[in-house]
Amino acid sequence: MNWGRLCLRILILVTATVAGEVVGVRLGVSVLGGLVGLSTVATLWALREEWRSLRLIDWLKRDSDAPAPTLPGRWGDVAYHAEKALRARERDLAAAYADQAQFLQAFEATPNGVLLLDSAHHVVWCNRVAADHFGLDPDRDRLQLITNLVRQPIFVDYLLGGDHEEPLLMASPRHQGSLSILIRRYAADRSMVLLQDVSAREQADAMRREFVSHVSHEIRTPLTVLSGFVETLQSLDLDRGERDRILGLMRQQSQRMQSLVSDLLVLARLEGSPRPAVDRWVELDGLLARIEAEVRSVSAGHHRIVFPQPTHLALAGQESELHSAIGNLVLNAARYTPEGGEIRIEAQVNTDGHALIAVQDSGIGISREHIPRLTQRFYRVDPSRSRETGGTGLGLAIVKHAIQRHGGELLIDSELGRGSRFTLRVPSARVKSLDPRVGTPGLQSSARSVDEPVH
Ligand code: ADP
Repeated sequence: MNWGRLCLRILILVTATVAGEVVGVRLGVSVLGGLVGLSTVATLWALREEWRSLRLIDWLKRDSDAPAPTLPGRWGDVAYHAEKALRARERDLAAAYADQAQFLQAFEATPNGVLLLDSAHHVVWCNRVAADHFGLDPDRDRLQLITNLVRQPIFVDYLLGGDHEEPLLMASPRHQGSLSILIRRYAADRSMVLLQDVSAREQADAMRREFVSHVSHEIRTPLTVLSGFVETLQSLDLDRGERDRILGLMRQQSQRMQSLVSDLLVLARLEGSPRPAVDRWVELDGLLARIEAEVRSVSAGHHRIVFPQPTHLALAGQESELHSAIGNLVLNAARYTPEGGEIRIEAQVNTDGHALIAVQDSGIGISREHIPRLTQRFYRVDPSRSRETGGTGLGLAIVKHAIQRHGGELLIDSELGRGSRFTLRVPSARVKSLDPRVGTPGLQSSARSVDEPVH
């Protein structure tokens, strides 16, 4: 309470009353004069108060972002405290908005879809991933009923069904593949819909199932044949010649199973072991000599086989894997080239230092449409021919896997009836020359230090 100001106001009132009375006495209406003086001053005060309050209300209603009007006295106090409370509320609100924005940014950053629904299943918010999977527009579809936007019955039933213990697996409404959807309640009656793209997982599961079924089939066939022969041997009294023929066929089937198991083991090793070292050097000439001995034994003189002159090259990596990669190509060439055909192995380093090891044959060739699928496991152009020649259908899958682990690639070029050329491209960082007299530009550029990194 401002006592000075109160006393001043009382003084003004008394003075106005006395002045009114003095004027009233002159006019012969002394009491009325005092009342008129008093009421005039009171009215002026009331008007002034009214004007100040209106300024304050106007500021609050229209322009509270601007500083409060400077008012004297009580209204000044009211304006000051109102502005202070207003600014404090604004700061709290801004902090709450910032927190909320951070939460939403976190949801936005997740690789999964997040969709927030109110109690009546209207869209409150969704991140970009959810919008993409469900084909929503985060702004336009706000407050729309989700069941009007995502109409798949399986989703609607799941959402409205109320049992959300287990996730729902459904086809993505907009893309190829599958989504896993989980609904969680929050804040009493709101729902959070979480979406995860499980296409890759589903695809891997399907591939695993397909692989197991292929392997079972591949093993069951020779086993069935074997058990049939065993029964024949047990039940029939065969002469020696017939007996030897059946034993020969049995050996063929068991060799087929052995090859399959050994190829499966090679594949498992390729998948399960670390990337081949970049500082373990394998002499290419020694490796080619071992492969040459193998292919000559398989060919048994039926093909003209040409191996390159000494290359004096070394490749960095795992010897057994490089052996599998080159060996499978050379043995395939022998298996798919009729008697009298030619098999030629070439090795060279190109100008940018990559080693190219090519296996060319004049065999049956492969028509264009099969080429992209040749490296798939168990893919065969002619299954019966592959089996006849002891193929497992895993050879080229092994080659591709092994060369890719060395940072290289397998290139296939073939023409039906005219032969094939399979080329392994080994990156320059894994190639070096062992020839002290390195002369060709290609070999010079390929000569690298053991410590150089793989690219
Ligand atoms: P397989 O054990 O059946 O030979 P691969 O994975 O090694 O399996 O080869 C896949 C298929 O590619 C073979 O079944 C065959 O049809 C074809 N193929 C591979 N190499 C050659 C080649 N040099 N000439 C013709 N066809 C080939």
